[in-house]
Amino acid sequence: MLNYKNFIVAMALGLALSLVMLVRECSSNSMRSSVSIADAIGKENIVPIVILGTGPAGLSSAIYATWGGVRALVFRGPLPGGLLTQTSLVENWPGNKSIQGPDIIKNMQDQVQWLGQKAKDVINQIDFIDDTVTSINLARWPYEIKTANGATMNALTIIIATGATPKMLGIPGEQEYWKNGVTTCAVCDGPFYKNQDVVVVGGGDSAAEEAMQLSRHAKNITVLVRKDTMRASPSMQEHMKQSPSIKVIYNVEVKKIVGAEGDVNGVEIYNSKTKETSVLPTNGVFLAIGHTPNSELVKSVVAIDQDGYIILKDRSQATNVPGVFAAGDVADKVYRQGGVASGHGIQAALDAIGFLTSIGYNTKMANELRSSFYATQKKGEVLRTLSSVDDFDKSVLGSKGTTVIKAWRTGCQPCVELAPVFERAAEKYAGKVTFLEIDTGASPELSEKLHIYGVPTIFVYKDGKMASRYSGAMKDDDFSAYVDQFLNPAK
Ligand code: NDP
Repeated sequence: MLNYKNFIVAMALGLALSLVMLVRECSSNSMRSSVSIADAIGKENIVPIVILGTGPAGLSSAIYATWGGVRALVFRGPLPGGLLTQTSLVENWPGNKSIQGPDIIKNMQDQVQWLGQKAKDVINQIDFIDDTVTSINLARWPYEIKTANGATMNALTIIIATGATPKMLGIPGEQEYWKNGVTTCAVCDGPFYKNQDVVVVGGGDSAAEEAMQLSRHAKNITVLVRKDTMRASPSMQEHMKQSPSIKVIYNVEVKKIVGAEGDVNGVEIYNSKTKETSVLPTNGVFLAIGHTPNSELVKSVVAIDQDGYIILKDRSQATNVPGVFAAGDVADKVYRQGGVASGHGIQAALDAIGFLTSIGYNTKMANELRSSFYATQKKGEVLRTLSSVDDFDKSVLGSKGTTVIKAWRTGCQPCVELAPVFERAAEKYAGKVTFLEIDTGASPELSEKLHIYGVPTIFVYKDGKMASRYSGAMKDDDFSAYVDQFLNPAK
């Protein structure tokens, strides 16, 4: 039976709990009452949920947004699919014993698109956008988002899932040889080091992952660890040990990247045990020393910590700004796992939907606002991907006129930069030039036939004969000038 003393304690606890609940309710009510869906009426280009980023966090948010019946726009971002597209084998993704990182992303993208197709109405459709957000104005609601392509939209809620970027060492030679002997992506650049010697700098899971990736291409891989142990998980270290081409050197710091005639030929290393400095010959340097959160765009409008990670409210994905949520590596300095990012992306979508409900957004209101929703322009069928050598022979070698082909690969940053430039050119020259693509990852035979050793590579064919070949990204003006020379050859 409850005695008097226990009764008083229970009452006090109950009162304290009620007070806490009341304070939480009041603060959340004051947050919610500051905006109302009525404020959105009369605005143009409304988007109920804007999602920035397409890594596991952004894509999980997208799945739950469309599943929850709310219209959302997803900005693919500068690295579509995020860092998982740059990993290979993943053995800790729940539900899959072993799966490739890019396949996780592809499955999630397919699921978003499938759900999006099922949602035939604009009020619960989901669209991906290949554009870059240049500014976010959170000083008024709906929040104003401007993009590099000149679009302006009014977001009712925003989910920031912009991920993190690999860190650099900041040592001499790093910039000089960047992407020409120094890189942070073994998936993208490993094939360029066939039978060569490379080093991987770092001691975490990324370093182990990079080393294993490289073991399929390079002759010798030396992992340079600054402490006397590796931070990588035991299973990752075990995988590394099974590869005879991977060796680990402990207690070494890389001080300088050295080379000659534009090529890397070594790294200067300092051994903190022996106190000796020496040069280790190598052809390539793969950096895997952690990440910096991609919060640059929002750091002046939402609260971040001293390391740049977005600060979240307890047990939610809410930032300090009502209706703005964050998920994934941009807000997680502790776990930084794809699975965790995915879970937080789900939470962020549920939080965003909860916020919309709290301000009076429902199906009736969505129907009232439907004519004011931001409309994405559907691109015509201007770009086609060449599927095989046979397809290439028929479509290109047997063609008349000018054909421009872009060879690309998932996880290649310059390919991402070139993609919108290529699409704009395809639209600009529609009817005059045929634009085609080759996904080198999906068409290895065609890549071999065309001797593609780096991406992006642009090919120009005139009447079935190769007229030019160019490696690297270009800006719009340069790309137009490049194409023009084949349409209007100088007399
Ligand atoms: P981590 O922060 O885990 O590790 C960074 C590593 O780089 C550490 O060994 C660190 O050394 C070293 N380092 C940092 N700065 C320097 C420097 N200036 N010079 C030399 N070495 C340096 O980052 P990761 O990117 O490896 O991993 C991030 C997260 O992603 C982790 O949670 C990891 O588990 C996860 N991940 C999971 C994968 C998978 O499951 N397949 C694959 C890749 C990552 P020190 O230890 O001395 O601090």
